[in-house]
Order: sequence, then structure tokens, then C-alpha cells
Amino acid sequence: MPTNAELFARASRSIPGGVNSPVRAFRSVGGTPRFVARAQGPYFWDAEDKRYIDYIGSWGPAILGHAHPEVVRAVQEAAVHGLSYGAPTEAEIEIAEMLIARMPSIEQVRLVSSGTEATMTAIRLARGATGRNKIIKFEGCYHGHADSLLVKAGSGLLTFGNPTSAGVPPEFVAHTIVLDYNDIAGVKTAFAQHGKDIACIIVEPIAGNMNMIKPIAGFLETLRSECTAHGALLIFDEVMTGFRVGPQGVQGLTGIKPDITTLAKVIGGGMPIGAFGASAKIMSNIAPLGGVYQAGTLSGNPVAVAAGITTLKLLAKPGFYEDLSKRTRTLCDGLVERARAHKIPFSADCVGGMFGVYFSDKVPTTLAEVSASNIEMFKVFFHGMLDEGVYFAPSAYEAGFVSSTHDDSVIAATITAADKVFAKLN
Ligand code: PLP
Repeated sequence: MPTNAELFARASRSIPGGVNSPVRAFRSVGGTPRFVARAQGPYFWDAEDKRYIDYIGSWGPAILGHAHPEVVRAVQEAAVHGLSYGAPTEAEIEIAEMLIARMPSIEQVRLVSSGTEATMTAIRLARGATGRNKIIKFEGCYHGHADSLLVKAGSGLLTFGNPTSAGVPPEFVAHTIVLDYNDIAGVKTAFAQHGKDIACIIVEPIAGNMNMIKPIAGFLETLRSECTAHGALLIFDEVMTGFRVGPQGVQGLTGIKPDITTLAKVIGGGMPIGAFGASAKIMSNIAPLGGVYQAGTLSGNPVAVAAGITTLKLLAKPGFYEDLSKRTRTLCDGLVERARAHKIPFSADCVGGMFGVYFSDKVPTTLAEVSASNIEMFKVFFHGMLDEGVYFAPSAYEAGFVSSTHDDSVIAATITAADKVFAKLN
């Protein structure tokens, strides 16, 4: 049985950095990535058959835990009938209707295969619908890897200290205005200066790619009112928050309706899927109805759609989000309580099944505050937890995710492990 280190050495010869997505490489925390052999519920087992409690959950999709039997069955049943057709299916209508019924601002939805495709197309749609070029994004928000959005981005780019990607010509981002998250005055100034040229704002309405940062009171409200006042469109990138923070995303929690919503992760139950949706009027700009082009060989893939439909049905069970929120809160409170007992500067916060842990006394509301937290201590904590069999995101700039299979005993085991690690940090 090859070890993680042997697999990583072999992977590094054939795959750049040994991984197919950068943060998986452990570059910022050091050490050897764990190669997953199998997963079940809240756990995965690595190549050396060591078990971990998993708080990444595929970076969000695994809200029902790994290999949920009903989702697996739906995938198997769909696969028997063919893996991809390139022609429409009834199941695509069913998932579209489910998304429309659940997300307050969506009247029509188009399926794609990833969050990146969803945000990339949402921007094109906003530009096409308004006839304007400029877009506003916020530093530390990550919206996938489309060129115009790879400016001062979050997630892996932030982790590796290279928030603006090489390979993106300056002309491609000349229309991207980057502001600070939660900077209400900055948004007003940008609209005062460029209002008639701004096609849209794209925002993670709860940010999860610079650790987790909640919007301060008035931030999302200002985005909504400035967009409305200046004829710009508001895009909520709910790729991470959609069906993760509650049954209707952040728009359900806040009552603030974006013009365009992007989704992915949870809606595919672990299979590759994405979606963008808006009013029928805005969506009429999309081909074949309108002139904004968007297409995809695998869009609406029957296996991914089957996983998505089954996942969304299971999430609709009464009490699902109450339970998930309660457990995530118990985890956060337990970690804070243990850290404080060991006099470690530590805070934690959560919404639904999404959480942030910060090596600072207070929960940050800005990227600068996350960067000012004790990231060196986070790295030691990360490895300590890994040794104890608990897998947090290998970066201080990522959020964490709890699934419905992280029951009380799993949460308690995590807090016990953290207690041991905090004791050594002191
Ligand atoms: N938008 C947000 C908020 C994300 O968190 C991500 C991925 O983490 C994306 C977009 C891109 O999605 P994908 O990785 O499916 O392309």
C-alpha cells in the first residue's frame, strides 16, 4: 500500500504541484497532502488507512456527508441509462423547478458544470443585459477562475500570496473595480464616480474564501440600493452559501434579493454542476433567446442532475437546517471555550453549516483582520488536528463545512482533539 508521501512524489511527476486544485497541495501549511482512499459520512480514510473527521466536505458540496446512500443510489440508477446525452431531459426541468421554488430571486435558471462557469456567465449576462462594461468585485472574494474575476481574489490565490493571477492581460481586468468587503462608503464612492458604466456588483453575500466573513449591517442593503439607483445588476455568488447557510441561501436569510444568483457545490451533491438564475426578463438575454452566448457539452448532465435532485429533496426534510446550524454552533462554541481555557487567542463563528476559525480574539469583519490573525499558530493547529485525525482546510483563508452526519459524538471528538492541540500551543 503506497504512503501519502509516495503518492505525492508520484503525483508531482505527472500533475503540477501533485494536485488538481492548488490549495489541496498543503503549500501554505507545509507537509504532505492526504490522498483519499474512501469516504463515508463525516469521515474519509487516506492512503495509509488513517481515518479523519472531514470539515472540508469537498469544499462544501458534501452537506449530507460522504457517500450518502440515497444520493449514491440515484447516481447509480441514472448512470445505467446513459452518462450524457447532449439533448434535454425531464430531470433537468425538475431540478430547475426545485431551484426556482427554493431561491427567492430566481424565475429561470440555466445549468452549467461548475461554479466558475456560473459566475463567468453571470458577468457576461449582466454586461449584455445592461450594455455596460464595468464590474465591481471585493478583495478576498473568490468567484472561480474566469479572467476578469482573478483580481485580488480569495481562496488559493490569497493563500499563496498571489491574489491577482499571472496570465491575465491588464486589458482583461481594466473594467474590474476592486473594493474592500464591508466598505459601505467605498461602494457609494465607486457608484458616484462610475455609476452609469457599472454593469454589476458580484459578491459572496457571506464570504467564505478569505476564511468566513459575514456582511456587516447595511453592507448588502447598500449594494442592493446602489445597484437599483444606478441601473446596475446585483449578483449574489451563492456557489458556497447556496443551500449551505440555510434553505434559501443568504437571500433567504436577509430578505435581500439579488438580480442574478450563481449556485454550484451543494446543488450537485458532489457531482460537477453549477447554475445561474435570475428573472425571466434578465434570462431572456441568454442564447437561444438573446444575444448573450453560453453553452456546455455536459451542462445538465443526467448523473449530476440525479445527485442534485436527491440532495435537494433530502435538504427539504423539516428541521434539517436547524439541526445543522445547532451542531455547527456547538462545534464553534466548544472550540472557543477550549481555546480560552488554554489562553489561546481564538474565535469562531458560523452560519448554517459553514464556519470560520480565527486565531484572533475577535471574529474578523475584514480581510485585513484575517491577515492580522496568528496564521503561524493556525498552521501548528492544523497539523496538530491532522495528527489527531481531524481535517480542517489547509489554509487560514478558507471556511469550514459541517455535514448532517457530523453528529454530537463527532463534534465532541473534534473538541477533545482541539483541547489536546490547544494545550500544546500554549
Ligand atoms: N464562487 C465561490 C463563492 C466559490 O467558493 C467557488 C469555489 O470555491 C467558485 C465560485 C468556483 O466554483 P468551482 O470551483 O465549482 O468552479
